[in-house]
Amino acid sequence: MNPKALYKISYGMYVVCSRKGEKINGQIANTVFQITSEPATIAVSINKQNFTHECITASRVFTVSVLSTEAPMEFIGNFGFKCGKEFDKFKSCKFRAGKTGVPIVTDYALACIEAEVVGAFDVGTHTIFTGNIIDAEILGDGTPMTYDYYHKVKKGFAPKSAPTYIKEQKAEAVPAPKSEERKMDKYVCKVCGYVYDPAKGDPDGGIAPGTPFEKIPDGWVCPVCGAAKSEFEKMA
Ligand code: FE
Repeated sequence: MNPKALYKISYGMYVVCSRKGEKINGQIANTVFQITSEPATIAVSINKQNFTHECITASRVFTVSVLSTEAPMEFIGNFGFKCGKEFDKFKSCKFRAGKTGVPIVTDYALACIEAEVVGAFDVGTHTIFTGNIIDAEILGDGTPMTYDYYHKVKKGFAPKSAPTYIKEQKAEAVPAPKSEERKMDKYVCKVCGYVYDPAKGDPDGGIAPGTPFEKIPDGWVCPVCGAAKSEFEKMA
């Protein structure tokens, strides 16, 4: 089997939001699709480990914001690589409440859809929720971001919780440089907040402890979110 064949399937990029009591949450999803027109029904596949799953299961409602190609990696990382249980994903973006009280993210959104759950299909790691569309609106002009665009132009990666995640091969091991060459500045990933500590390196990614950030090969990616090395910045 060639897993890369699966890369040829097209998807979009969406923020899916829901709530559980007073707590609201949103996450990036690529598997959102309309399944019938009468009644207008959409489906979304959500990882059971995600807080959004807990929210949709509790409230039986969700919203979908269709993202534009203008959405920056920081915005995607905020919703895609952080857990809403511990982190307020909404403090840095514009949103409003939908008819059901579930937030609708309006930043970088071309359209929004609100749905009430009518079915839930257990598919192992994920649940496919189907929802009757109770409201839908155009929010702006622009080009919807496809998953392909996210990978090829934005250089984005899928988190391990994504339905379409495919394990990447590890980079070849790089030996630690001699001590006199070492710089020990820490660097932070702007997408997910992961901190590269040169003292620890990234042994799983083939980077030996003691490797300064500057000496990491350009093909290395963030071990948490898969963002490129260029998405890192030096910590103050
Ligand atoms: Fe990251």
